[in-house]
Amino acid sequence: MAYRPPVRRRGPRPSGPPRQLLQLQPLSTEELVTLPRATTVHDLADTLRVPPVELIKGLLRRGIMANINQVIDFDTAASLCDDLGYETILQTAQEKEVSVLSGARRALKEGAKGFAQRPPVVTIMGHVDHGKTSLLDAIRETKVTEGEAGGITQHIGAYQVEVDGHPITFVDTPGHQAFTAMRARGAHVTDIAIIVVAADDGVMPQTIEAINHARAARVPLIIAINKIDRPEANVDKVKAQLADQNVLIEEYGGDVVAAQVSARTRQGLPELLEQILLVAELEELAADPNRRAEGVVLEAHLDPQRGAMASILVQAGTLHIGDLVVLGETSARVRAMYDDLNKPIKIAGPSTPVNLLGLGAVPEPGDLFQVVADEKTARTMVESRERERQMQEAAPVNVLSLASMFEAVKSGVAKDLNVVLKTDVQGSIDPIRSSLQKLGDDHMHVNVLHAAAGTVTESDVMLAAASKGIVLGFNTRVEPGARRSADTAGVEIRTYEIIYNLVDEVEKALKGMLEPETIEIIEGKAEVRRVFTVGRRSAIAGSQVIEGKAMRNAMARVLRGGKVLADERVGGLKRFKDDAREVATGLECGITLDSFIDFEEGDIIEFYRKEKQAVS
Ligand code: GDP
Repeated sequence: MAYRPPVRRRGPRPSGPPRQLLQLQPLSTEELVTLPRATTVHDLADTLRVPPVELIKGLLRRGIMANINQVIDFDTAASLCDDLGYETILQTAQEKEVSVLSGARRALKEGAKGFAQRPPVVTIMGHVDHGKTSLLDAIRETKVTEGEAGGITQHIGAYQVEVDGHPITFVDTPGHQAFTAMRARGAHVTDIAIIVVAADDGVMPQTIEAINHARAARVPLIIAINKIDRPEANVDKVKAQLADQNVLIEEYGGDVVAAQVSARTRQGLPELLEQILLVAELEELAADPNRRAEGVVLEAHLDPQRGAMASILVQAGTLHIGDLVVLGETSARVRAMYDDLNKPIKIAGPSTPVNLLGLGAVPEPGDLFQVVADEKTARTMVESRERERQMQEAAPVNVLSLASMFEAVKSGVAKDLNVVLKTDVQGSIDPIRSSLQKLGDDHMHVNVLHAAAGTVTESDVMLAAASKGIVLGFNTRVEPGARRSADTAGVEIRTYEIIYNLVDEVEKALKGMLEPETIEIIEGKAEVRRVFTVGRRSAIAGSQVIEGKAMRNAMARVLRGGKVLADERVGGLKRFKDDAREVATGLECGITLDSFIDFEEGDIIEFYRKEKQAVS
């Protein structure tokens, strides 16, 4: 992943871990400890595998009286970790996906105790009408007919099938939009992406989008060439088209697995499922089933009879009846849970989808859930999640703007500039892409996540958001929905009409030479009530401030009937006879501008400042 949060300096290491720690087999100090913004003493002790009292003592030394449920912020937790010789890293929501997975993989490779293989979680993506839903249904039916005959399947966001005793979990919401929206929220759900391509239609724009979305998430692909029962099916053509997209299947000397299937006749389905297991094996998917459960909300809704319901996917640990779970900004005791066949179950291990009923509130898809020790921890965690959301809402951070790129590279926060490129015509893509790719050096390079002809869509913005990148448009329009999503997600969209300008700005950004964009801040408005002419060359607009404030050190526009008559610096601002720096709403003042003197009663004077866009 291109973007990494700052790593705290490693503190002095103790000569050896204290004795109590040895008994508990503490974490190796070689491991990077990933911490959330806020954690409890109990959870930190759990993570470090040290007795909580060690941490409480450390807090006391800092003058903090704490009990085991005390919530501590990242800085405090990090300094406690420093004491024990651990290097820490701030876990942003987005980083969670990386750390959870890499931790699991590392642990499996090291043969650490407690980690066990877990079923793969599979998402189906592809162009509309190529058979995503039919394939999901056909796979689900294999389960229902094999022993669950008559069982009514419950739509719970995901379901599991078993192949030769090995379960596979399928996410029931197909499509790359849902996949990337989850990722943008920091939830990494999918281990393997199946890209469906209809053999009678071939590779289409959304096929390419789906492939690029999966690649940006570094999720391995399996190609399912569907509808092979159709007379028009042309499997070879699909394979050649895929090769054009640099998706090289095994027959073409590549390493992408392809299966030929028909969702209608079920032909090839057993082979597809086998392929999934093979790819899963290579991925070494693992999770610790013995810890408190955590995972992600797949779907949630309010059932008129049964109240708030959520479909969740357990990603690590095991969920039990009676557990106290925090989901998004709500918490609940698990009184009953159901599997994908609506059967009550008592426990759910890693990669298991379950349905929870009777929640206090409806969480959102993509919300993370976590089992906690007690009500108090649940409350503090809900409060801290609420605070974090409010903070984010108050100050929408620009994930990464072109202007901030240089700083990000210099400080080691970013290595790649991730770009989604949309152009007017197909022919523009290659020259722009190759010019951008030439800009890189040893320290960084431009990574084109997805390039296509067409307008900038919401899906493009989500991809950029999930990959902490930007969207570049060339001679193309930005769809209104995309603009709205970009504003909320803090994604920069830049559009250009000349290739040279696009490439030049990216180059300047990489070299730290791009001027930060200036933005305009409207400070207030005043309405002219009386005009005082002073000699022939000067006029004072006797005005009342009707909005915000009038400011001396600012620019002003004079507006009359929707027309701008002047746009220049404020010359003077007086309150009665005295110079004033600012005059608040409701008050009267005398305004002069640098050169404009033709004020009339009823004119509106708008005060504004220009500010360089903060480099985030
Ligand atoms: P989605 O938009 O990708 O979810 O596609 P659907 O699953 O809704 O399928 C689109 C259409 O293709 C439907 O009319 C399906 O019946 C049909 N279809 C899907 N899979 C197959 C297949 O393997 N063979 C044939 N002949 N038709 C299929």
